Amino acid sequence: AIAAIIPTTTPSTWLGVMGGGQLGRMFAQAAQAMGYKIAVLEPAQDCPAAQVADRHFLADYDDEVALAELATLCAAVTTEFENVSSHSLAFLAERTFVAPKAACVSIAQDRIAEKNFFTDCSPKSKVLPAPHQVINSAADIDSVPENLLPGILKTVRLGYDGKGQARVTTLDELRSAYADMQGVACVLEKMLPLAYEVSVLVARGVDGEAVVYPIAENVHRDGILFTTTVPGPNVSDDCAKRAQDAALSIVGQLGYVGVLCIEFFVLQDGSLVVNEMAPRPHNSGHYTMDACVTGQFAQQARAMARLPLGDVRQHSPAVMLNILGDVWFDGETDQGSDQMREPAWEKIMGLPGAYLHLYGKAEARRGRKMGHITFIAPSLAQAQAQMAKACLLLG
Ligand code: ADP
Ligand code: MG
Repeated sequence: AIAAIIPTTTPSTWLGVMGGGQLGRMFAQAAQAMGYKIAVLEPAQDCPAAQVADRHFLADYDDEVALAELATLCAAVTTEFENVSSHSLAFLAERTFVAPKAACVSIAQDRIAEKNFFTDCSPKSKVLPAPHQVINSAADIDSVPENLLPGILKTVRLGYDGKGQARVTTLDELRSAYADMQGVACVLEKMLPLAYEVSVLVARGVDGEAVVYPIAENVHRDGILFTTTVPGPNVSDDCAKRAQDAALSIVGQLGYVGVLCIEFFVLQDGSLVVNEMAPRPHNSGHYTMDACVTGQFAQQARAMARLPLGDVRQHSPAVMLNILGDVWFDGETDQGSDQMREPAWEKIMGLPGAYLHLYGKAEARRGRKMGHITFIAPSLAQAQAQMAKACLLLG
């Protein structure tokens, strides 16, 4: 039997979110627009999501008193970051409806579990992860086959935005990179000849119905997402279909409920490799807020509330540009003489089709995601031209 929908119309129906970052903030705003009240559980005081939430549980993510209160208040709870302990999600799930489930989040938290899962899915999804080997001790390096080098050493857990990674070309470099990781479990991945990178956002309801958004082409700088372009200038119809079919297959085999994003590599020979998944709305899906009928955060609220999933149709070509804290600094470094300045918002906002999203972070820091701008336009070329102007204005 399918659980009943969670209506917004009774006085104050609450939805909860674990985590207080920008993803929690944008989820709160989208769900509030649908009439829900939002509770955030987050140990930091002045975080982006707490600024807009109707209630803030100021507590650690594994504080069982706060978790129990959150579960009692909320008709459903989700998470905005994947490193929430699966124990906390399971604890919540004993008391209220939780999406995504702890078991799904656990897989995404662990690169080995994730790669094993992708491999298990591959007979139906038709995509495999990069060739790799687990490295749990210095001795494991002796059995690394030549053909995994050059490669990328990644920590199995807690990596994001290119952090917890080292590029290595020789076994000696691998040994020293592994020593720098201070004994945590790692995986060595073969360095693949990427043509470009894409991601596919999917959403699945409790009834098993799933929807897939248009494929997004992503450019990273220094390991951090720089731009997302949809439709991707390099993406063929055939590639888009293979990636979307793979994403739908994986989300179904996972039995997932909610919004999920899967990153893929497209290699120079046109083949597709599955990289990783995020069990939540994703930075590369921000364009959906301004360019699709249903944005990814409204979609997450629908999935949680067991409402029908929203229309994923894209109404305008779009380019999303991340705004890092760097644009508040005018010098080359962030120390000493470096001066703070306010970016030229008045000029940027004058560009046609610009949607500015700032996350309310207390302080700009280099490499910190402060916000994003999405440009929509009648043609992709026009959206790209506005994005290029914005880049110049941001300096
Ligand atoms: P993160 O969790 O930091 O996003 P990723 O595994 O996505 O980690 O790696 C970050 C970026 O590094 C990717 O977007 C891609 O540009 C590059 N990268 C990662 N793995 C490989 C690989 N096996 N071959 C080539 N490039 C890679
Ligand atoms: Mg990634």
